[in-house]
Order: sequence, then structure tokens, then C-alpha cells
Amino acid sequence: MAHRVFNFSAGPAVLPVPVLEHAREHLLSLNQTGIGVLEHSHRGAAFTSVLQRTQDACRSLAGIPDDYDILFLQGGASSQFFMVPMNFLKPDQTADYLITGSWSKKALKEAARFGTARVACSSEDQDFNHIPAACDCDPASRYVHFTSNNTIYGTQFTTEPERPDGAFLVCDASSDIFSRPMDFSRYGLVYAGAQKNLGPSGVTLVVIRKDLVEQAERDLPTMLQYRTFAANDSLFNTPPTFGIYLMGLVLDWITELGGLSVMADRNANKAGVLYEYLDRSALFRGTAETHSRSLMNVTFVTGDADVDARFLEQAERAGLCGLKGHRSVGGMRASLYNAFPQEGVLRLVELMTDFERAGG
Ligand SMILES: *Cc1c(COP(=O)(O)O)cnc(C)c1O
Repeated sequence: MAHRVFNFSAGPAVLPVPVLEHAREHLLSLNQTGIGVLEHSHRGAAFTSVLQRTQDACRSLAGIPDDYDILFLQGGASSQFFMVPMNFLKPDQTADYLITGSWSKKALKEAARFGTARVACSSEDQDFNHIPAACDCDPASRYVHFTSNNTIYGTQFTTEPERPDGAFLVCDASSDIFSRPMDFSRYGLVYAGAQKNLGPSGVTLVVIRKDLVEQAERDLPTMLQYRTFAANDSLFNTPPTFGIYLMGLVLDWITELGGLSVMADRNANKAGVLYEYLDRSALFRGTAETHSRSLMNVTFVTGDADVDARFLEQAERAGLCGLKGHRSVGGMRASLYNAFPQEGVLRLVELMTDFERAGG
């Protein structure tokens, strides 16, 4: 087998080895068709069956109700920042945004182009180290947008936020989708770039309630309307075929392991080992408040940028890669998505213990 290190990267991120091995076979010939997965027409039977299977796997794995469409789009989660308000926020309407990190700020900025984008709560004055306990939404809000897991700051919502009666909930779940069970019936729209927990970059999963697809703005370029993709089963134009294929394999892998509650347990165990060490350590400390800690991205520092740099260098040499914190915050970040193995966390804690014992 190829030499592999422990890849703590925040995204694109580690994928399950059995999935990659399976895909390697299919690069040359998908299901004995004699044509590789990258080479199949998106209109042919082989690929349409792949797309159907990915969609079905998604629905059954996450229990997505029948009145929701499952779409595979391009443009990344960042395009959803504008596509959501473009489709749903009229100039005289208001939407509420929960500001818990850089990604929600970017989403807010795009929404302000279309209507009134309100800050319902924010933890920016404390460097986004927690999820605000309460939010103040406009009772007439069209929708409430939040980021379920803050990839850069290492915080995560444990439950859905409140929303006014007439508003629907929109969630950017890019970095924690399918890491735990999720009740989709509570949401109007959920989106996620695939490259953290679902597959390769280039495909964005959108789960949207069908009545919202109907209500969405019609006076928009065809490619920017959700209905275009809903009406054509994500096949209006050439979809990101490889990403859809690989996402299907990742979903099958999760299903075989026992589904989303098993994933949630595994993820809680992995992050738990690291947080437990951070709480004991005299050198390293976690940056997120305890009750807001993310199970996907564990952020920590020593408090001294030179010591951080030295630690990162040792980690890299020990085959623990991608631990550098986001360029905007520094320090360290261990991304422990579904596919990240428990063994890698144990190795990291071992290295941190040794580093601390050696006096940093
Ligand atoms: C990575 C990330 C994004 C950006 O995703 P792109 O697919 O690169 O546009 C948005 N939101 C969250 C929460 C992310 O983690």
C-alpha cells in the first residue's frame, strides 16, 4: 500500500482508505463497463445509476424526508452564501444571521446584497471562542442562517437554534454534515461543500424543502435557481460526476459502519481523547469554551507562537500532518472528520505529551 501519514487537514481532508481503493479500481472501469468513472457520459445509464444511488444513500442514511430535494451543485459552499439570499430574500425582507466565525460573516456579507441581513447574535468580540447562548431574531424574518460547525474556530452547535414561527432554518453544515444524526425536518435548507466530510472538492450537497424550491425567485439566471437542479435531478448541465460518485462511496462506508449514531460515538471518542489531554496539559490549551467545543476541529495553542511552530515541525516529522491552524488564527487545529482514524489521535496525544515533558 502507498505510504500514508495522519492527515489532520481541515479540507480537502482525509478520506476512508477502502473508499479510495474502490475508486482506484473504478478509475479504469466502472462496474465492468470498460469505461472509467471519470469518462462516463452524465446522461448514460452507468452514471445516472451512480447519481441515483448517491441520492438514495443520502436519503436513507440521514433519514431525509420525501418532501426534500437532494441536489448536487458546483461553486462550493461559498456560492450558497449568495444563492440562498438570491433565491429567498427580497429587497424589502429581512434574514437573520448567527455570526459564529469567518464563514458566517462571509454568508452575511453576501445576503446584504439582496435584502436586510441582520446579525441575530455574534461571538466576534470574544474571538469566536463560543456559540452564543441566545439570539435575537426579527419576528418577521424570512430565514435564520447559521454555521453548525465553525471549522476555523473549533466551535459547534449542539442543537438547532430557535427561529421565529414564519422563518425557515438555513444551515451551512460544510464541516460537520453526517458526523452525527441530524433532523432534516427542522430545516428549510442545508448545504455543505463535500471536501470535509463527504468526498472530494467540486461538489456541494444541498438538501432543500420542496415547497421552498417552488417559492424561490424566478427572475434569475437559470443556473442560479434551485428549481433548475430540482426539476432536472441535478442533471440540467454536466454535474460534478466524480464527486457525486465518490460521495456515494463515502455514504456507503458510513452505512456499513452502522450509520450516523455510530459516527457520532466514534467522533465523540476521538475528540474526547484530545480534549481530555488539553484539559490536563500545562503547556497546551484549547481555544474554544468547553460547552462550545467542536468534535470535528479541535483548536489549541501553547500561547507562544515560536513554541507552536516548533511543535508543528516535530509533528510533521512524526507523520502528523496538516495541524497548522487557519492562517487567520494561528496555533494548531486537529481536524477529526469521520474518516480520521482514532489511532492518529492517540499518536498526536503521545507526541504532545512527549513535547510537553521535554519542556516544549
Ligand atoms: C470550508 C467551508 C466553507 C467554504 O467551502 P467552499 O466549498 O470552499 O466554498 C464554508 N463554510 C464552512 C463551514 C466551511 O468549513
